[in-house]
Amino acid sequence: MRHIAIIGSGPAGYYSAEALQKQDDGIRIDIIDRMPVPYGLIRFGVAPDHQSIKAVYKRYEKVALSDEVRFVGNVLVGRDVSMAELLDLYDAIILATGAPEDRPLDIPGGDLPGVIGSAAFVGWYNGHPDFAALDPPLDVSAAAVIGNGNVALDVARILSKTPAEFVGSDIVAHAFEALGNSAIRNIHVLGRRGPHQIAMTPKELGELGHLEDAVPKVDPADFPPPDGDAALEPGLRKSVAHLRDFAGLQPGERRKTILFDFFARPVRIEGEGKAERMIVERTRLDEGKAAVGTGETYEIDCGLVVTCIGYRTPPIEGVPYEADLGRFANENGLISPGLYCVGWARRGPTGTIGTNRPDGYEVAEKIAAEVRGGDKPGGAGLDRLLGARKVRVVTFSDWQRIEAAEAARARQGSPREKFVDIDEMLGLCR
Ligand code: NAP
Repeated sequence: MRHIAIIGSGPAGYYSAEALQKQDDGIRIDIIDRMPVPYGLIRFGVAPDHQSIKAVYKRYEKVALSDEVRFVGNVLVGRDVSMAELLDLYDAIILATGAPEDRPLDIPGGDLPGVIGSAAFVGWYNGHPDFAALDPPLDVSAAAVIGNGNVALDVARILSKTPAEFVGSDIVAHAFEALGNSAIRNIHVLGRRGPHQIAMTPKELGELGHLEDAVPKVDPADFPPPDGDAALEPGLRKSVAHLRDFAGLQPGERRKTILFDFFARPVRIEGEGKAERMIVERTRLDEGKAAVGTGETYEIDCGLVVTCIGYRTPPIEGVPYEADLGRFANENGLISPGLYCVGWARRGPTGTIGTNRPDGYEVAEKIAAEVRGGDKPGGAGLDRLLGARKVRVVTFSDWQRIEAAEAARARQGSPREKFVDIDEMLGLCR
């Protein structure tokens, strides 16, 4: 018998479990998560109005319900059990901890109230217990969203939607209510480079053209000559085509505007004890790639700033870490004998959910080739240790009780109303 522990129950964790489970019967897999609920990024990262993407959890559920796999929730590595103890208990450990921390925006005023990282803001509208009390300032007329990736798109779209457009989503009640009362009318999306350098994908960008009460706006002067679009890779070409369409849209009756500020680098955020405006420097492209400042600045009024400039994996004591890349130091997923990483913890925060699948399968093959079963106790040893420490472990059937209660109290048309308080969740467990 080989005993494997996977830390993190998001996509990378479950794809790894799925791949390992397919290999042979002589394996036991514990998926450990600090939350009492599984699925990580699917629950707390994927936008609540993207239920078709969230539906991938059904695939993970099948894995979770198999005999070889256990969910060990509400267990924080480093608090309830140490990495050294896990390495003694299991034949191999896979770190699938994702990248839940924001890369900091290192500019003056970046720490003013009202400046919020996307991990916190997305966590807030997705019901992450750590961010349920965030209370972002929505009583202001304008917001700035920094970054030109898909997370910036998610944030701009969520800030723009009407309550009716959230029907069918699982946006949590506190965010649904606060966004319904929001005074925000202008949402600036700032990219330090131009339309040809965006990291947004076409389907997600195209959604902005079909909002009930918001219209995207692009300055035609920001585009390079149209004949350059042909040389772009197909996805980016489609995205740029959306931006060109946006440049011709009229607001009509729509009250909100999503303004794409290209060639715009935030220099500092100012305000009396809170964010009120941002000073932005215009940039130009150096040799078609890097953004360089032109020295020309302008001001954006914004009482809310959401930074969507990428994430990083939190380090774990004793595990080699590449601080500049925000991920564990690894070679094709191997950190050290018996210790592996997958997903964003391995690659850094890039790629879609599906990108984690090959990672999981690759690491499972490595483990098959490199890890032999021995006399380590695996899950039985972990249970003894956590029991002695009186850690309140949440099992998968406990989670199913929480899940049923969330479905039972859902708003009409919504699949669930998430619990955002850990004690409340624990109260539902056996
Ligand atoms: P991302 O795609 O890497 O985009 C980060 C953006 O931040 C880039 O435009 C980058 O600009 C900008 N940036 C970085 N540092 C900056 C700074 N100091 N000042 C100003 N701008 C800065 O990251 P993400 O949006 O967080 O997304 C993470 C991953 O999740 C991506 O792979 C994304 O596709 C995926 N995702 C997918 C979906 C979906 O499929 N629906 C939804 C959400 C996220 P430069 O290019 O100039 O560096």
